[in-house]
Amino acid sequence: MAIATVNPATGAVERSFDAHTPGQVEEKIAAAYTRWRSYRTSTFAQRSAWMVAAAELLESEADTVAAVMTTEMGKTLASARAEALKCASAMRFYADRAEGLLRDEPADPSTVGAVRAYAAYQPLGVVLAVMPWNFPLWQVVRFAAPALMAGNVGLLKHASNVPQTALYLEDLYRRAGFPDGCFQTLLISSSDVERVLRDDRVAAATLTGSEPAGRSVAAIAGDEVKHTVLELGGSDPFVVMPSADLARAVEVAVTARVQNNGQSCIAAKRFIVHADVYDEFAQRFVEAMSALTVGDPMDADTQVGPLATEQGRKDVEDLVADAVAEGARVLCGGSRIDGAGWFYPPTVIADISAHMEMYTAEVFGPVASLFRVADIDEAIEVANATSFGLGSNAWTADPGEQARFVADLEAGAVFVNGMTTSHPELPFGGIKRSGYGRELSAHGIREFCNIKTVWVG
Ligand code: NAP
Repeated sequence: MAIATVNPATGAVERSFDAHTPGQVEEKIAAAYTRWRSYRTSTFAQRSAWMVAAAELLESEADTVAAVMTTEMGKTLASARAEALKCASAMRFYADRAEGLLRDEPADPSTVGAVRAYAAYQPLGVVLAVMPWNFPLWQVVRFAAPALMAGNVGLLKHASNVPQTALYLEDLYRRAGFPDGCFQTLLISSSDVERVLRDDRVAAATLTGSEPAGRSVAAIAGDEVKHTVLELGGSDPFVVMPSADLARAVEVAVTARVQNNGQSCIAAKRFIVHADVYDEFAQRFVEAMSALTVGDPMDADTQVGPLATEQGRKDVEDLVADAVAEGARVLCGGSRIDGAGWFYPPTVIADISAHMEMYTAEVFGPVASLFRVADIDEAIEVANATSFGLGSNAWTADPGEQARFVADLEAGAVFVNGMTTSHPELPFGGIKRSGYGRELSAHGIREFCNIKTVWVG
């Protein structure tokens, strides 16, 4: 895949970039490693000052970088701006909290025969981050803010279609005052990742992206015995029970499905509705999905922009075509919007069955699958009938049912009467084929730390 900005709203190639040569990549790895050896001893106060400066810059430049993101991957300008501000707030969160989250954890010395004993959190070194285009700032920042605050340095291999956002991030951290080499962007193709990952100076890797990419990076890292965090795909269930506030559930269901033009790992993708409220939910949901404004993502009135890539739209079309050929019913949308750009309308599909590709695949576009279930047992069975396990949503006012969903939904997160979202205060990550490890919160900042046991006799 060429490293280029191709505007998804028009299909026009806006800017192309040459990939870094092997020599340039070597220089960047060397700079990262050399920098880490001094940066690891910097104080939390110093790192925090740089991180707050980065947050301030990002806040002041939110409009500019939002326009870059929208041009590169098609998200609405309003959501791009919100993403930039969310990143700034995560930077501030870790600037404020890192020292406390990484404080030594003492053990009772008498029980271990020591004068003093504790666990210390120390940085691992150079961490390679392989990142996707869908939240081109946020995915990177939610790794970089804690990693830099913990004393690691970062090498970013961003998705090939968001090079300008990738270069902006490198520039942002540099202008904020982080010493050269702390955070660098590698303009390389996915086939060049292996060489970087196998380099002895690279200590660990984090990948957010698809299952095949995660499997490849994890296999190589496993061969090198290097720690990885994987944030992969999802096919989140959104269960609606009879006691739910239906109007609110419908409103949130629409947002949960079409956020980021339907291209979010934690988008609700499968809507599993109790038979008692299925017809009413389906009718209201279809009405609301049909009423959305699809168009130019730069336009303030647009709610759903184009899909990020031509291939991405084809993947969605193929999944819908397969389902329809096998007997599924399209309740709204269901075919591409003609004209320039890679637009696909909000779509609702019913009568999905297990032999259709859509039943097991992650649909990365604004397409919702509707399932009718008889009771909570069937709802949980359908919700868990996926190889993914990222987020999950359950709508019910019944405390017993809420407890059941919390206990039995196979996912890294369960949101009751709400949609899955990420917060710096809460861990984020998946189980099953959605990956392993956690980002955000205390768990995220400790992923790329050596948890060193210290025993002093
Ligand atoms: P992708 O194709 O896997 O790309 C993600 C990143 O991995 C890109 O930088 C890509 O580089 C690189 N890559 C691809 N194949 C690779 C390989 N074999 N070895 C090393 N690197 C490789 O994913 P995508 O289609 O852009 O993104 C959508 C996927 O990401 C969805 O499945 C979505 O659910 C998932 N996602 C997960 C989370 C989460 O937090 N769990 C968040 C967002 C997205 P190139 O661009 O150069 O190919």
